[in-house]
Amino acid sequence: MAQREQIRTGERGVLAHFGHMDEEPMTITEGDGAYVRTDDDEEYLDFTSQLYCVNAGHSNDAITDAMAEQLDRIQYVSSAKDNDARSQLADTLTEVAPQPLTDVFFSISGSESNEAAIQIAREFQDASTVLTRWRSYHGGTYATAGITGDPAIRLPVESHAATTGNVKFLPPFGGADAAFDADSPEELTERSLAHLEYVIRNQGPDSIAALVTEIVGGSSGAFTAPPGYFEGVRELCDEYDILLIADEVITGFGRCGEWFGSQTEGIEPDMITFAKGVTSAYAPLAGVLMRSELGTALREDAMDIGQTFAGNPVACAAGNAALEEYDDHLIDNVQELSPALEERVRSLADHDVVCDVRGRGFHWAVEFADPETGELVFDPRVEDGYNPVADVLTRTREKGVLVGGGRPLIQIMLSPPFCVDEDDIETGVAALEESIEEVFE
Ligand code: PLP
Repeated sequence: MAQREQIRTGERGVLAHFGHMDEEPMTITEGDGAYVRTDDDEEYLDFTSQLYCVNAGHSNDAITDAMAEQLDRIQYVSSAKDNDARSQLADTLTEVAPQPLTDVFFSISGSESNEAAIQIAREFQDASTVLTRWRSYHGGTYATAGITGDPAIRLPVESHAATTGNVKFLPPFGGADAAFDADSPEELTERSLAHLEYVIRNQGPDSIAALVTEIVGGSSGAFTAPPGYFEGVRELCDEYDILLIADEVITGFGRCGEWFGSQTEGIEPDMITFAKGVTSAYAPLAGVLMRSELGTALREDAMDIGQTFAGNPVACAAGNAALEEYDDHLIDNVQELSPALEERVRSLADHDVVCDVRGRGFHWAVEFADPETGELVFDPRVEDGYNPVADVLTRTREKGVLVGGGRPLIQIMLSPPFCVDEDDIETGVAALEESIEEVFE
């Protein structure tokens, strides 16, 4: 009995993921729209869509009804066979994605879809190097931790060379510790692309299978590329025969105001990896959208990769319903309210301690640095102890609003569900602003 009590209270049994975020994880028991409730009956505005994934909000009847109907018909079909809910979802995905992507390989999580994309790229290209970026996040499995540009995640697995080898990192576009000190966005584009070409030529283009990139940074800080950067990346990838893989695990399904972040940049990647928002987190589902040459290679070579629960029919039914909800009104809501959210979040830069506000659509990061020195207010990568950014997180929660801890925890993430209204936006950002004032002023 004592053991059960410990498990129930979280002292034993359930190990929380992403330990950097929450010292004392709350117990959430219910959700409705943009709000969640805890076991002690407190209500919170969920301004991070949990882990950037409950895009349609909690308790959406259209999605839960579709799942219940699917459960009544059949709950599971082998991932080696076909299923109507699965093929319907694949059809819709290829319709809403950038056009050259015609085939879908379903998976279960964002990490596994990135793993699959890397494996497909390496086998298709007969090359092993993967280019990625510092201050990125691509997953919690060995290979994806290995391409994640966050030392806290990468270093513990770095010595396991078999799984993480042949990965080269590119610098991020900004933040308090930006690698390039450019005077204008155009100069930043030029320098970033020149650096990329330098890396490609020195690494040896033939040894490079793919470049993996978030289109707008996810939990690593909502970085947006300077204008023309991604077009330049596309050109370099074409010139040197490198596959361009867009990790759209967060940016997919409307978060940046279009179906996919790639469309906000006007580029056509060779593969898009997706997860989270595809079902609005009503069930685990993920996948890789890819060009037909890659799909054909997978079919013809019958590459022997797969997972039991990939493309689960109940998850696909949730996906079909979620995509209808996005199409019907939710992406319109993101487009309509993004300017208000952007203006309000950018107003936080009036506080001296806020050194950078960046993002797109419904995905924003607020980063902190000492206004006198320009140094980060606290860098958990090199120090232990009191982190004022963590304090801002906690105080915002005490005001009834959940915002996200970025990685590293030098920044706060705002990523509301698409069903919020203008009042919710004001409530969410105002709670954060008050907390910033309490901690820093
Ligand atoms: N890629 C990005 C950009 C992510 O943000 C995440 C998770 O947060 C992942 C991949 C990994 O997805 P999952 O946690 O579903 O494995």
